[in-house]
Amino acid sequence: MTLAHGRPYLAIPGPSVMPDRVLNAMHQPAPNIYEGALIDMVSALVPDLKAVARTAGHVAIYIANGHGAWEAAAANVVRPGEKILLLVTGRFGTGWGEVFARQGVEVQALDFGRRATVDLAQVEAALAADKSHKIKAVAVVHVDTATSVKNDIAAIRAVLDRADHPALLMVDCIASLAVDRFEMDAWGVDVMVAASQKGLMTPPGLAFVFFNDKAAARQVRPASLYWDWAPRANPALFYQYFGGTAPTHHLLGLRAALDMIAEEGGIEAVWARHEKLARAAWAAFEAWGREGPMELNIADPALRSHAVTALRIGGDDGARLRAWVEHKAGLTLGIGLGMAEPGDPAFHGFFRLGHMGHINAHMMMGALGVIEAGLVALEIAHGKGALEAAAKVIAEA
Ligand SMILES: *Cc1c(COP(=O)(O)O)cnc(C)c1O
Repeated sequence: MTLAHGRPYLAIPGPSVMPDRVLNAMHQPAPNIYEGALIDMVSALVPDLKAVARTAGHVAIYIANGHGAWEAAAANVVRPGEKILLLVTGRFGTGWGEVFARQGVEVQALDFGRRATVDLAQVEAALAADKSHKIKAVAVVHVDTATSVKNDIAAIRAVLDRADHPALLMVDCIASLAVDRFEMDAWGVDVMVAASQKGLMTPPGLAFVFFNDKAAARQVRPASLYWDWAPRANPALFYQYFGGTAPTHHLLGLRAALDMIAEEGGIEAVWARHEKLARAAWAAFEAWGREGPMELNIADPALRSHAVTALRIGGDDGARLRAWVEHKAGLTLGIGLGMAEPGDPAFHGFFRLGHMGHINAHMMMGALGVIEAGLVALEIAHGKGALEAAAKVIAEA
């Protein structure tokens, strides 16, 4: 028997749950792109977007997914033949590096594995060794969605400052924007990339590159007119915002999402909700892990993201549990990513719970409840008291 008929719940780390309000805002006839409401809406949307990123800098918007934001940022910051230092804490760091490399950029990668944050001493040593300042940028993922590690961006900035190194600091916040605290200006981030379909609760299709005056001054003229961030951030004509036709309906959806963030009490309130819900999830996972094979990928809570939690469970129990909760209970969990290759049997021993964007306490408790049901049904050993532990965290809110 299946109990999956009802509203499905997509708890993968992006795309995230789309609010009805966002979808309804998109359900409109095509607006005029030459004058009128859409044009006014976009000029008001840009400052709201920057407020979420905590920057007074600039933003270029692209019709793209996160990979497009990666391409755009790389194309504006470094020329082919120049060098970057890439800090890798999971599959997404590796992926960004591949984008730079394909553009002909030399990538010096420091890989910190799949369960750890950036080792600042190694970064310091790499910068100290770069006496002639060949490294033009340091690129790091704030929250690597594959491992669910959260890196300390302010600490990386401090290393750059201590080394007195002029490299730009570039950060991927695709998973973490509007989920985990991120302070672009206060933390000294020069370039930040994000996308619409995670914390911003809007369908995939909008990519954002935020940059400060320092990065603007050092912009390399990209070979691609389309990727050039300058006309998008400072358009003389409306079409230049988007390098062509505006992504009309995505913009309407994003407007609704930003309104929802404001009505919740602003970005601080949104961060606080995500933290609480993440802590509830961790309390359950820790309790299950006290007996049996379940284990949080990131042991130190201070290094865990509030957007996604990566789990190790071994054998093929990750795949079995995902299948059970999806087919029996209407909950879709994320696959393990970058932990083992898809052809490797070990691939099936991982899963992820996405908890970014439009989620609340009953959704989290519901997800945890059906995971518990799945563990029971599949006879996967697990500790007791997980749901009580999660409820206790929620009750303290
Ligand atoms: C989702 C994600 C990406 C890739 O975004 P796409 O929209 O799938 O191209 C890159 N980096 C991080 C940290 C992500 O979470």
